[in-house]
Amino acid sequence: MNKKVILSVAAHGDDAEFMAGGTLAKLVDEGHDLYMLIATDNDRGSYRTSAAELKAIARPEAEAAGKVLGAKGVFLLGYRDGDLCDVPPSVLRGQVMYTIRRLRAEVIFSWDPFAPFENHPDHRAIALATSDASSFSALPLFHPEQLAEGLLPQRVSEWYWYSKAHWETNKRIDISATIERKIRALYAYHCQMVLTIDDLLGDARLMGVDESRLAGIDATRFEALIDLGLRANDAKTGAELGCEYGESFRHQTIELPEIFTS
Ligand SMILES: [Zn+2]
Repeated sequence: MNKKVILSVAAHGDDAEFMAGGTLAKLVDEGHDLYMLIATDNDRGSYRTSAAELKAIARPEAEAAGKVLGAKGVFLLGYRDGDLCDVPPSVLRGQVMYTIRRLRAEVIFSWDPFAPFENHPDHRAIALATSDASSFSALPLFHPEQLAEGLLPQRVSEWYWYSKAHWETNKRIDISATIERKIRALYAYHCQMVLTIDDLLGDARLMGVDESRLAGIDATRFEALIDLGLRANDAKTGAELGCEYGESFRHQTIELPEIFTS
């Protein structure tokens, strides 16, 4: 097996864990090196906690989650949650390209830049920046200031785009052996997990679910519900694959012309 450097690029702490945590842990188990880049500090993601408090816990939570998955490094760009669309595209692209070149990353995980129905502006922004950065990181005239700093151009060969809308899904990965770690990594994002349950309760109330069914749910004790919801979701992909739990992606590789492959 060729050991590869994998770079996960997310808008928020917990994006990678929700969408690809089992696959990332599996690739680490197979001997690959994983690094994680997170663009924002999740500092709008709560009904209960102040932006300053959220910002303060962004790094320790991300590092704890990365440790569970086996990441060799976790990097944060420190942007305000929800404001990635205000960052000039060439700046964000340059920061992702810098990370790809510095780590010599060959495999990329991120939000799908061409997925339909993506409602989060941060997901759209980081997806496009990551696609652009990884498409052109081998070209020395893109961000030449990085080469002047001593970095080398870097060619990326493989992309795993998150399959949120199940759009053009063409790869399913058996994560039965790593789902426990995926769930534990998510638990590291305490405020985000509380938010997930708070949102669920808000939606349920809006949709008229009887209050007696919601009364016993305490969002700060999110573990059982997150475990249940995640397993139910990943079991669907597992069933498609013929295993217990799975994750799905729009997987893309370099396509060589027939002259080299026949
Ligand atoms: Zn997100």
